[in-house]
Amino acid sequence: MRRQQPAVLVFGLDGATWKILKPLIKKNKLSFLSSLMKNGCWGVLKSTFPPLTSTAWVSFQTGVSSGKHRIFGFLKENGKVFSALDIPFPPFWKIAADKQKKAAIVNMPLTYPPQPFANGCLVTSFLTPPKAHFAFPPSLEKELKKIGYKTNIEFEHYFFARNGKLTKEEKNTILQDVFQFIKKREQVGKAIIKKKEWDVFFLLFKNTDLIQHLFWKGKQTTAVYQRVDEAISHLVSFYKRKNPHRPVTIFIVSDHGFHPVAKKDIALYPLFSRLKVLPTLRKTWLKLLRGFRKLTGFSWISSLAYPGCQVKITPFGITLPNASLKKAKKLKDKLERLRVCGKKVFREIKILQESKKTFQLLWITNPYFAPNADPLSGKLTYPRKSHFKARHHSDRKGIFIISGAYVKAKGKRKPLNIYDIPANILGLLGINPPSYMEGKLNRKIFSFPLFLKKSSLQVSKKSFSKEKKEKILIRRLKALGYLQ
Ligand SMILES: [Zn+2]
Repeated sequence: MRRQQPAVLVFGLDGATWKILKPLIKKNKLSFLSSLMKNGCWGVLKSTFPPLTSTAWVSFQTGVSSGKHRIFGFLKENGKVFSALDIPFPPFWKIAADKQKKAAIVNMPLTYPPQPFANGCLVTSFLTPPKAHFAFPPSLEKELKKIGYKTNIEFEHYFFARNGKLTKEEKNTILQDVFQFIKKREQVGKAIIKKKEWDVFFLLFKNTDLIQHLFWKGKQTTAVYQRVDEAISHLVSFYKRKNPHRPVTIFIVSDHGFHPVAKKDIALYPLFSRLKVLPTLRKTWLKLLRGFRKLTGFSWISSLAYPGCQVKITPFGITLPNASLKKAKKLKDKLERLRVCGKKVFREIKILQESKKTFQLLWITNPYFAPNADPLSGKLTYPRKSHFKARHHSDRKGIFIISGAYVKAKGKRKPLNIYDIPANILGLLGINPPSYMEGKLNRKIFSFPLFLKKSSLQVSKKSFSKEKKEKILIRRLKALGYLQ
């Protein structure tokens, strides 16, 4: 007997961390999320290298790690902002749509420009240029414009007014805006739920990230989470009311963790000069180049400072040309042991092979340090000046809560990877995840609908031919009248 396919409802809480959620749940402040945890399972959702919004949500869209999709941060090498057109794998909703599933995706980062797909709708998010198209189909965009929907909160003008300093009033204005955004997002979510019986529905609350940057563990953050908890509960009940006979599986996910701001900037160029990966530059030369940069705004200053040296450094990693795996491993070991100011500099390091002789080391730094990739830094460390209370460059520990139909696991589970989620969403819809996805079906958490056969997941050549041979035999037996 076929079991009824569930609808999969996914809610993103950008930057949500157990550091914030656990104490709130203990104090009974998030009743809906608590009830999902009680009835289902939860744990750490490991983010990408680097744990940044753009990189992590692309892994969530595609089911592959950042080493495979190569969306590192927000900007391309040419300095332009990444867009949906730069992602080399289709998002999971496109795969679902190709199998006649209906998907609604609201406020997913890096979906601009909105790409059409069958039977679906999409609202873009983070990194949508002003006045650009932000929704598909066009009729939905019209509808959203009518209610004054915005993809993302505009607060930049406050930051640029006084070099990043915000007054108490400005912070409060942002907070009030955030509450307005949550209200509108809930309203839009309901308007979209009304349209069709969606098989997959995704909606992101993006501003939990901004609020944590501004207030970290403050009462403002608590209030925002309580409002989001309420909005999710309303949206789930609304879906259930509209589709009373449909079993529902719910995912709550975040894209990365969070931690208090770093105490010091660590300058990576002087660091790698000390490690002899880069030549050491004279102080007078650095001073001269700094003056030159001030005058001209010269952007490829690093190639002028280190001529002929093709080592590329970003805050998130280093690219080593003309290297070998042995050399990359040696440097990784060295970096893992490295201490500055008595503290370990790197938390986690991963090696990526780019080509035969080019290797990349991607890292997560100790939260005590903020990595600085200015090629003209003189000193190794600087006191950190930040107007934010918290950040997330060093925290890969996001969150997941999974509850509802076909969820058999209960309580705290082992960490999952963010790229595991799309594979399992497809699995719940009865679709085998494509083989390039690094995320795997988790049969300890889900009892997938019966028609998703285990054997069809990874058919080795041997077992396939065995199966085929068996089929031929059965046909033969039928032809001979031995079988009906
Ligand atoms: Zn984020």
